[in-house]
Amino acid sequence: MTENRLVIVGGGPAAHAAAGGARQAGWTGELVILSADRYPPYDRTYLSKRYLREPDLVPERFTFPAAEAEVRTGTAVAALHLEQHQVELENGERIAYDRVLLATGGRPRTLPGYEDAIYLRWIPDADRLRELLDEPRRIEIIGAGFIGCEVAAAARDRGREVTVYESLPQPLLRMLGPVLGSLVANLHREHGVDLRTGVEELPEPRRNLVVGVGTEPNQDLALAAGLDCEGGILVNEHGRTSAPDVYAAGDCTRFWSPALEFPVRVEHFQTAQRHGRQVGHNLARPEATQPFLQWPWFWTDQYDQEIQYLGAGLTWDDLRFRGELGDSSFVAFQVQGDRVVGVVAWNEGRTMTQIRRILERRLPVTVDQLCDPATDLRALARG
Ligand SMILES: Cc1cc2nc3c(=O)[nH]c(=O)nc-3n(C[C@H](O)[C@H](O)[C@H](O)COP(=O)(O)OP(=O)(O)OC[C@H]3O[C@@H](n4cnc5c(N)ncnc54)[C@H](O)[C@@H]3O)c2cc1C
Repeated sequence: MTENRLVIVGGGPAAHAAAGGARQAGWTGELVILSADRYPPYDRTYLSKRYLREPDLVPERFTFPAAEAEVRTGTAVAALHLEQHQVELENGERIAYDRVLLATGGRPRTLPGYEDAIYLRWIPDADRLRELLDEPRRIEIIGAGFIGCEVAAAARDRGREVTVYESLPQPLLRMLGPVLGSLVANLHREHGVDLRTGVEELPEPRRNLVVGVGTEPNQDLALAAGLDCEGGILVNEHGRTSAPDVYAAGDCTRFWSPALEFPVRVEHFQTAQRHGRQVGHNLARPEATQPFLQWPWFWTDQYDQEIQYLGAGLTWDDLRFRGELGDSSFVAFQVQGDRVVGVVAWNEGRTMTQIRRILERRLPVTVDQLCDPATDLRALARG
């Protein structure tokens, strides 16, 4: 076993933030990031938004600042040898580690028969989509999740005709529920999208279709090494996997969330970054390990609207509002029993920041108080 070498597998926000977290916590040894991506770590949330809208935007504009680490791009890890404390690259090279962190993210779920379509995850996918948007043709999208919705909005901004095919009754249904999902549907229809919900028949497979039907975790490495996985690499609230010296963070994990008292898999940028940072800290200083207490938090920009969501898609039986549903801005609380399990902020980013603070610090507050516009959330958040 090599002394003091931390190997991070992955090249997304979780990997990048983990390197920063480890350094900040005092990791002075070697730090190597091995990423299958041929680009240095970047923010892929741009790929369905500004990168599509602004033909002149170059990837360097959304590449993360250099980490204090050796970054090896185009370097896929093929196996994890737990006993030997080594990772094995695709070319057979082995690299010994003292500790390893898996931040392998997720990959788009593919629709059988549509393997050649455009699945938006990496820069080359977005380049293919950009080429499509350069031509005056109708853009067809399967799936009205956040990727499908954002691509539809960007395509409309570029002046293209757009059809979206969604098998569920509303867009973003699993996260937002039917009431708010129908608002998103209206938003797209008002902007001229031919949004077809509840569809049973899809367009014929072809290369220039866009498919956004969710992601699945990249857990193959972990599974092959015998780590516990169940819809993601299972980690505890500190980011530890079932094997010694092996940690995991970001979209590839299902982590125990003390905030939600549930094991959650999250596919959100902020969470991947914050989770990565915390786990990086924990593996560098196991003696001062801290649980990941933050709520999963997500934003999406569509046209001139910003929707933020706090939560992990847990079931709820009541929807309560701060402000009026359908106004230009409001907040909706998904409530189960007397507990808030999800929050949707429609053009209410600042309010969401206060609510997030209140919930993450577990400050005593009732749903009635949260919904009452007279309640000073800023004062409450100060505790
Ligand atoms: C188009 C798009 C738009 C998005 N928009 C938003 C948004 O608006 N808001 C939001 O909150 N979230 C958004 N997301 C989600 C967000 O980008 C992800 O949650 C985040 O990137 C996850 O970070 P991660 O580091 O866990 O994984 P990833 O970003 O998936 O990175 C994983 C990395 O690991 C590498 N890797 C995988 N396997 C191996 C291996 N065996 N060896 C070496 N390297 C490997 C991959 O190449 C990749 O670079 C968006 C995602 C996409 C694709």
